[in-house]
Amino acid sequence: MLKGKRIGIPRAISYYNNYPFYYGFFSGLGFEVVVSDKTTSGLINKGSACVVSDTCLPIKVYVGHVINLLEKGCDTIFVPSLQSTGHKINNCSKVRGLPEIIRNVVNRSFNMIEPTLDKTEGLGLKSFCTDAANQLGIYDEDLISSAMKKGWQTYNNFLQMAKSGIPHQEAIKNAVSGRFSLKNMDVVKPLSVVIMGHGYNLFDERISMNILKKLEKMGVKVYTGLNVSKEDAISAIHNIGEIQYWANELDLTGAAAYYMQNRRVDGIIALTAFGCGPDSLMVDEIQYHARNKNIPMVVLTIDEHTGEAGFVTRLEAFIDMLSRRKKKLMSKTAHLKLLPEKTSEKKETKVLTRA
Ligand code: SF4
Repeated sequence: MLKGKRIGIPRAISYYNNYPFYYGFFSGLGFEVVVSDKTTSGLINKGSACVVSDTCLPIKVYVGHVINLLEKGCDTIFVPSLQSTGHKINNCSKVRGLPEIIRNVVNRSFNMIEPTLDKTEGLGLKSFCTDAANQLGIYDEDLISSAMKKGWQTYNNFLQMAKSGIPHQEAIKNAVSGRFSLKNMDVVKPLSVVIMGHGYNLFDERISMNILKKLEKMGVKVYTGLNVSKEDAISAIHNIGEIQYWANELDLTGAAAYYMQNRRVDGIIALTAFGCGPDSLMVDEIQYHARNKNIPMVVLTIDEHTGEAGFVTRLEAFIDMLSRRKKKLMSKTAHLKLLPEKTSEKKETKVLTRA
């Protein structure tokens, strides 16, 4: 590691999906990686104060994290422009334009590392990483390639751990410190739900009001986009007659559609940010299909004013309803199991009468 070389990563937006790669890559280049603190109300307020009020919560939070890094004395900050993650698979305009937003709203001078990922335009991961390294003054191609390998290794370890059911933050911690362990996902619980939501909403404990822990305490098994492979999510989207357009669609439409098929869950929770255009389209699609399949769904919308009490009340009411519904369905099924004997008696009687 180069002495004194530090790069700051805001704990927001792409951090939640990509941090293990970012960590492996920048530490492979010889940098100390500094992450902003966990999201707090104070941090959100600092971000909100810099942007117009109708900006979505995750962007306000992102701005707050950049300010937090500056306050920690970090003056080189990674703010990537993630335009498209596949051919014509796009991020929303705010994620695409993050460097521009930060340049315009954070009124302090610092060194912004802002590589572009735009697979639609042929700017893939190699060009993204080379761009980032060049902006840091590194041109050694072998070093860049080996740092990318380290990035992939850290990322793949994280993904395997998270998919096995290890909580998101713990999987990140393990991956960056070189630890590896797996968990058994096949634990049976009385109720199960899938949450469709962006990683940056779902795994940020302050933004999500700790929804994952709350559901765990209620004895509910929770699935997220992390538990579905990319291939399964894409084919689930196709199976409901849709096509993938948004970069985060696999975590939203893909995850919900996957678990909706064959009724693998008792209910669907959509966790969305107020004022988010892509979320409203994806949630509408899933609501339509969930209605057709008679699977209960609740939409929990969050912004910086969302109160925890109201949020918890809605969540508990939904889980209560799922629980009552399941008991009713189970007692009906148990009752139906007794019916075939009666039906066959009747049939037999009819046959005898005809004879
Ligand atoms: S996808 Fe929605 S929530 Fe995410 S940054 Fe864009 S507008 Fe905000």
